[in-house]
Amino acid sequence: ARTGTPAGTTVSAEQAEQQRRGLMLVLSSPSGAGKSTIARLLLEKEDNLELSISVTSRPRRSSEVDGVHYEFLDAKRFEQMRDHGELLEWAEVHGNYYATPRAPVENAIENGRDILFDIDIQGTFQLYEKMRSDVVSIFILPPSIAEMKSRLHRRAEDTEEVIAKRMKTAVEEMSHWGEYDYVVVNDDLERAFENVRSILRAERLKQFRSPRIGPLIQGMVDDLQKELA
Ligand code: 5GP
Repeated sequence: ARTGTPAGTTVSAEQAEQQRRGLMLVLSSPSGAGKSTIARLLLEKEDNLELSISVTSRPRRSSEVDGVHYEFLDAKRFEQMRDHGELLEWAEVHGNYYATPRAPVENAIENGRDILFDIDIQGTFQLYEKMRSDVVSIFILPPSIAEMKSRLHRRAEDTEEVIAKRMKTAVEEMSHWGEYDYVVVNDDLERAFENVRSILRAERLKQFRSPRIGPLIQGMVDDLQKELA
């Protein structure tokens, strides 16, 4: 640049991100692939990411806190919310209802906050139907079925019967891997986490999420044309 020229349009990364639309990050995996650990690390280490708290009619487990892990409600209240259009998606899993309330998600993404979802495949496909461009979906794959099974046993949370049920659900879930945007193999937790984090960071910079960058780039093009004139 010639000395003495005014700086013209300047852009900071922060400005470019301003008014960015938030994204919906969906992590899916068969139980025992390490999804929950990756989700916990993401929430700990990434700013501007919050967990979508689902509602469910399933009874609360002793390790769970109402309003933190889920919002627990009875089937009647669930059906009311569903019939009043208060749910973004819902599913019945193992005889219980699960759903994502609509308002908190819409509010977050309109205000540029990203949301993490731990929902099943039925829910993911409903989000695709309603808001495909806002959804970023990652399928987390265990390195082998033997490893997945041993993780399920190691965490000693479920009975043999429940483990068998989870394995059966896994067959169905794994057959849909091709419908996710990304696949991450979790043979090494640190590496799988870094891969998921890279996906999140790149997706945040997708141009259509930051309409505010357009006029700034135009300003620079104008500056450049003045320089060349
Ligand atoms: P769990 O009872 O073990 O907490 O969850 C059972 C299944 O329900 C898991 O696959 C979980 O991802 C799924 N799930 C939890 N919340 C939701 C939700 O809001 N919507 C849908 N579609 N699935 C959910």
